[in-house]
Amino acid sequence: MERVGFIGLGNMGRPMAANIRRRQFPMTVFDLAPGPVAALTELGAESAPDAGAVARASDVVITMLPGPREVSSTVLGPVLDNAKPGALVLDMSTVDPETTDALAKACAERGLGFVDAPVGRLAAHAERGESLFMVGGSDADVARARPLLEAMGSTIHHCGGPGAGTRTKLVNNYLAILLCQMNAEALSLATAFGLDLSKTLEVLHGTTATNGQLLVNWPNKVLKGDVQPGFAIDLAHKDLSLILGAANAARVPLPMAAAGREAFTAARARGMGGQDFSSMLDAQCAAAGV
Ligand code: NAD
Repeated sequence: MERVGFIGLGNMGRPMAANIRRRQFPMTVFDLAPGPVAALTELGAESAPDAGAVARASDVVITMLPGPREVSSTVLGPVLDNAKPGALVLDMSTVDPETTDALAKACAERGLGFVDAPVGRLAAHAERGESLFMVGGSDADVARARPLLEAMGSTIHHCGGPGAGTRTKLVNNYLAILLCQMNAEALSLATAFGLDLSKTLEVLHGTTATNGQLLVNWPNKVLKGDVQPGFAIDLAHKDLSLILGAANAARVPLPMAAAGREAFTAARARGMGGQDFSSMLDAQCAAAGV
């Protein structure tokens, strides 16, 4: 069995790493926060003092970090400087195409494998090993990553060569995050009208207006007043920024993305950045005074 290194044990990384460990892969982990590291060592993983030590111990190094800054400073330094010959780097974070392309190039120059496999669906799916992966990489590298992806998720889409996973993920998140904001706007209108939100949701679920977040997050989180992330408003704001940057480079106008990001900027200004993105209803209601 390959030795797995896992860097970034947050809302997504912790359950993903735990699901790999439950398949008995030997594992070394690192995170800046001690709590999630302890959760993995309880499952038999080893704790490393830094990312370089993870790389020295591992055949496959997985990163699940917040964004481009953390991924670049971790991989294009400690990980590549300490990687075993022939190691595979598997970045599962949501980053921009420029970052992924730089990682792929740096790995290729050192004779290392590289796969980008950002993650679809929510933290609850990651807990159950039901994530969806959008995968970019050579056939050989993806085949090598597959047993680990199968341990963490239930749906694997090989989208193309290196970088195709990241690009697909940005397309996905453009829709997913704007749907979240549209849901919040529509249901804030329902709130202002004095409608019963449960009844309104029941109606929406039976029409073409329904969507995955209305079906999952609204009954399970929003109506229960649960704002624990999940997927934090800060990360949604980060993704809309990545999407706008990548779309600008591709000369694709995305006016809705620009407007949507402003709503997330306003929610962060209200101190809501750490809350789940489904709680955008609260920001929307506050803006409307209802
Ligand atoms: P998170 O903020 O919960 O976790 C990030 C973890 O990385 C934290 O534990 C933090 O301590 C650690 N970390 C930060 N910088 C580090 C560093 N330099 N070295 C080591 N550890 C470091 O984020 P998350 O929700 O787990 O998301 C991780 C990635 O997955 C992001 O790119 C996010 O956009 C993406 N994503 C999230 C979801 C979701 O529903 N939460 C779904 C799909 C994709």
